[in-house]
Amino acid sequence: MIQLVNDGSYNSVMKYFLFGRSKNGLAIDAISFGSTGKHVLILGGVHGDEIEGVALVKFLVAELSENLDFPLKVTLVPCLNIDGFLAGTRQNANNVDLNRNLPTADWNPTAFNDRYSPGDVANSELENKALVEFIKTQRIDFILSLHSFSRSLLNVNGNCEPVSSLISDLTGLPIEESIGYPTPGCLGTYAGLERNIPTITYELPRGSDIREIIKLHGESIKEALKVYASC
Ligand SMILES: [Zn+2]
Repeated sequence: MIQLVNDGSYNSVMKYFLFGRSKNGLAIDAISFGSTGKHVLILGGVHGDEIEGVALVKFLVAELSENLDFPLKVTLVPCLNIDGFLAGTRQNANNVDLNRNLPTADWNPTAFNDRYSPGDVANSELENKALVEFIKTQRIDFILSLHSFSRSLLNVNGNCEPVSSLISDLTGLPIEESIGYPTPGCLGTYAGLERNIPTITYELPRGSDIREIIKLHGESIKEALKVYASC
């Protein structure tokens, strides 16, 4: 782990570490801030073609590096599926949908459709192995996973209050416990329902202007982190 910044101010230490490696051998980057308080994991790019989430996590990295003046530990992974991101595909380099491949009780080898391939066995993918290892070995209190979808919403698993209500109020996104179709092997089930780590699968508006997303959703998430740190 490399410590990049320490200007002596409260909680502003920024650390880079290798979260894992992709199927193609690329670094999956992680950046963490803070050492006290609850631990929030923020993921982007689980689906490589959902660039809005990657952009938003990278905005949050920049913002938190300048100002994290509340007690919270935040780990950000801007792009879990770096191979898919570079190829412009939802799936990883094995053509597996990472959000159908996690080792949940409901993992199912049958693909809902070709784009949602769950892999041959649960947790077969390097990117997910890194994620599962991190969740198992770190104390994580809350997860935000930033996706994008034609219908933007907050898919909540576990008790995500007060964060979910605050983000919903600030952005107008509805809170929904189901996205409307089965999602076996997804992070919301793995962490939110099966491991008691409240998880929001945050569906940003697909295809929206990145600057608009940052302005509305970036500022809302920053506000929600501040409130979460104090409760
Ligand atoms: Zn997605």
